[in-house]
Amino acid sequence: MLFFDSENKIKFIEENNQSEDKAYKIAKVLSQQVDELKHRLKCEQDRYTCAGCQEKEINAVFLNCGHRCMCYNCAVRNSKCPICNQEVARVVKVFTI
Ligand SMILES: [Zn+2]
Ligand SMILES: [Zn+2]
Repeated sequence: MLFFDSENKIKFIEENNQSEDKAYKIAKVLSQQVDELKHRLKCEQDRYTCAGCQEKEINAVFLNCGHRCMCYNCAVRNSKCPICNQEVARVVKVFTI
């Protein structure tokens, strides 16, 4: 630093600013990616979480419409499918390997 003449000093500051700018851009891209992944994870969790209790995994299917949106315990409490409003003939427990 002590030996920099005014020209070098300006150059040094410029380079420093450039790397800060680069780091800022990388951080911005990374935080956008994190947000995107958080959003995708939330969507995936919603896809597999019971719409009734919001806790258990979806493990039941309404017949005859075939919609899946609830765990077995919540599903059996419905006389109509919450998605299509069709009369529930039967609730079947489903298993994923
Ligand atoms: Zn449930
Ligand atoms: Zn339905």
